Formats: sequence, structure tokens, C-alpha cells
Amino acid sequence: MLPKLKLSYYNFFVPYEKEQLYIIYNSLSNSMIQLDWETGKRVSKLNSMEIHYLDGEVIEMLMKYGMVISSDIDEFDVVADRANANREKCDRSDTLFMVIAPTNMCNMNCPYCYQGDKSATNKDTKYLGKENMDALKKFVEDTVYKPHAEPIKKIRIEWFGGEPLVRKKTVEEFSEFIIKLADENDIDFKANIITNGSLLDAETWEMLERCRITDLQITIDGNKEMHDTMRVYLNGKGTYNKIMDNLAIMPDNKFHITIRINGDRKVFDGLSYMFDDLEERGLWPQKSNLIDFEWAPKFYNYLGYNQDKDIYYTSYDYQKSREDFSLLKLKHYNNWAEKNDKRTRKLRVAYPSFAEFYCGTVESPNSVSIDDGGYVHKCYNTINDTDMRVQHISEFDVKKEGMEHYRKFDKTKEADCRTCKVLPICEESCNMRFVSKAESKLCSAWKYFMDERMISIFEQNFSSQDEKPAPSQIVARSGSVEVC
Ligand code: SF4
Ligand code: SF4
Repeated sequence: MLPKLKLSYYNFFVPYEKEQLYIIYNSLSNSMIQLDWETGKRVSKLNSMEIHYLDGEVIEMLMKYGMVISSDIDEFDVVADRANANREKCDRSDTLFMVIAPTNMCNMNCPYCYQGDKSATNKDTKYLGKENMDALKKFVEDTVYKPHAEPIKKIRIEWFGGEPLVRKKTVEEFSEFIIKLADENDIDFKANIITNGSLLDAETWEMLERCRITDLQITIDGNKEMHDTMRVYLNGKGTYNKIMDNLAIMPDNKFHITIRINGDRKVFDGLSYMFDDLEERGLWPQKSNLIDFEWAPKFYNYLGYNQDKDIYYTSYDYQKSREDFSLLKLKHYNNWAEKNDKRTRKLRVAYPSFAEFYCGTVESPNSVSIDDGGYVHKCYNTINDTDMRVQHISEFDVKKEGMEHYRKFDKTKEADCRTCKVLPICEESCNMRFVSKAESKLCSAWKYFMDERMISIFEQNFSSQDEKPAPSQIVARSGSVEVC
């Protein structure tokens, strides 16, 4: 006899009329199955009391993939246990992650920038001096030789600012130290840099290679006209051409660039010109294996500014604009591919992954963000806010009071997340965004586009096949797409 059963709270029933079938996805088990149209429709309208009217084989399959469960299971407990386990995993991290701002100075003066003290000059002590760098080295040695929990197997550095390349010497000296230490202790080391891109001359590219900095995030805020109103030198002159020229001299196959575009609706409208210009300069799509983009829509009322909804994005529009950006990028790529006898691409939606729930940068005891005064922050977004300093690096102790403040946040206790059906796969795990005073918090794209995305995943993997899986067969589970 079947145990008492109920339908999972985390089921999604996606009608796929084109092929007359139903895609059923469960976010807690991260499984997707297909059912024929009639059965799928029936299941989608069932309540838990009616499960036993279904065919035995169908019930068995729904149970196997977590869509029907024993009535004594509290699914929310499963989610909360996962969140706790992830938090504990962060505690045992074997990665030493450091965001380092060698200075808060910048050679640019972007009106929206919160980074950097614009009044600072090279004469001010707004950079990491020898004493602080020595304290940072000691912290690294202590963490490697006397690890908090797991032995350190990986070291990652993100150079941040201000503009970190204003202090190239600091970057170079500290990299030398860390490379030696990592090599001697068989620790995997990688570094990346967030830079405005204006100082990347030939010598600097060479220096980055020596420092094993392989990934660069460079900001280009839309087409030349938009960018040059936003990203300007201290004298007000635009930086677009200089950054593009610097990208053109990037040595081949040694670096990966993410062009970050901070944008509102006006910037989005001009993006086609930016793609056209990148193509004319031979940068993208020609080097699409080395250069990619991150569209970073400016969020409505995030931290209390960006108040105009006609310009800035709310949570839904934010995610929608990211989908639109992917389509625009694809359109430009395919136009170029057709002109140049290359293979065109299709939009690919990645299968969901299980949620992390919390930000590793905040949660891990081996993760620190160091500001220009040598102080530790737990979130790199506060690195230029002296009120958010935790402790000085010379006396940094994860067990000391002050650290817990950042870890009090419990996503599973947030009212709207608690009842949200995409919580088990929600990739929105920024502790600070939740605890900040943002009026509208950012939600996962899965919340808004589940049906479209599931159909797209189905079509990517099965629709073009001559022999489709028979109705009621499994199509995907836990990130790997499989057919049984
Ligand atoms: S989609 Fe939004 S409400 Fe749902 S879990 Fe994610 S952040 Fe919370
Ligand atoms: S901004 Fe959010 S995701 Fe980034 S470090 Fe801070 S808490 Fe983590």
C-alpha cells in the first residue's frame, strides 16, 4: 500500500503546447520530467487528496523525482538544512580569498562612483603603505601556516579600488610575495583585477602577466557618447577611446576580459552602437573567446538612490533587461558570424543549480576585503565606507566580536523567501543587499521566467532530436541532462 502522499510545494507545471506535452519541474529536487499532455494537465490540477487516482507508474515516477512526497516530510526543513549546511561549508573553506584595494584614489572622476576620495592625491596617505602590507603578509602567512579549519589549498586575489593600477608597485610587490608562498606550499593561486582600463599600456599588460592576473573586469558604460559622459578623467575628458585602444594591444590568449556595462534604460538603448564599434575595432565578436560582457543594470532605489523608475530597473525589469541583453548580444554575434562564414549560436539557458543561500565572501573566515587603510571589511562593496570597517588586518581575528553582525542574516527567515517556490535554486545570495535598506530587493530570474526558461532548456536538449524521449520519461535532473 502507498504511504500517505502529498504534492511537493516546489512543483512547476509548464504546458508546452507546441509538442503537446507538460514539463514538470521540481525546484527542491532540481529534477525535470515530461508527461504527455493529458496526464500532465491532470497532474497540474490535482490536489494531494486526489493523487491515488493517478496511474501507479505515474505516481512512482513523480515520487522518484520529488514531485510527490510522503505527507510527513516538511520540505521547508530540507531547504533550511541545506542553507545551514552551506553556511557551515563556508566556515570550512579551503580558499583564502582577499579583495585588496591598494588605494582609494582614482585617475578618473565618474559622477556615479562611490569609490575613492576625489580630493585625494598621491601625496595623501590613502593607499596601503609598507606597514599595512607587512601586516597583510603576516595575515596570509598565519592563515596558510595556522589555518582556521581546513588547510588552505587555493588563494584568490581580487585587486580593487579606487583604481588599483594607480599603485602598480603595490600590486607587483604583493603578487611576488604571494606567488612565492603559493608555489612553495603547493597552493593554487589566481588573481583578477577590477580596473577602469585606462592605464593598461603595453608595460602594464606585461606586469599583469607576471602577477598571474588573468581575469580583468573593465567598465564600459555603453556606446562612446554615453560612456564619455559617465567615465571621465579628472579633467572631465572622456575615456572611451583610450580604453578601447588599450584593449586592442592586449597580448593574445593570456587574459580574459569581462566588459562590465553599468547601465540604465538610456544606456541600454545605445548598446547596439557599442557592439558595432567593438566589431569595427576587431575586438568582439572576433575575440569572443577572450572577451565577454556583464550587463549590470542599475537597480531602482538600491541603497536609497536611483529613484526614477523610468530610468532605473526594478527587480522584474532588471532580470528582463538581462534576458534582453543576452538576445541583443546574440543578434550582433550572429550578424557577424553570417557575414564571416562562422557558425551562428543559439541562446542557451543553463539548467538551474542548487542555491548557495549566502555570500561566501561574507561568510568565510578566510575571506577578507582590505581597504586603503589596512582595515578588513566583510563585504567588498563597503570597502570605501570607513564606518563598515571590522578590524585592522594586524589584529584580525574571526572569533572576535564584530564579525557576527555580518552573519546574522538568515535568508530562510525572510518572509517572502520563506514562501518562495524558487528558494531552493535562487541564485540571489548577496547578504548585504538583503540587509541593506533597499526598498525592492533583487529576485531570481527563475521567479519571473520559469516557463520560458524550462521550455528553452527542453528545446535546447530534446526538441531538435529525431527521436524524442517517450512521454513520461525523465529529461533532466540536478543540473545534468539525461534521458532514461
Ligand atoms: S526569488 Fe526573491 S523571494 Fe524568492 S528566494 Fe530568491 S530572493 Fe527570495
Ligand atoms: S555585495 Fe553582496 S555578494 Fe558582494 S561581497 Fe558583498 S555581500 Fe557578498
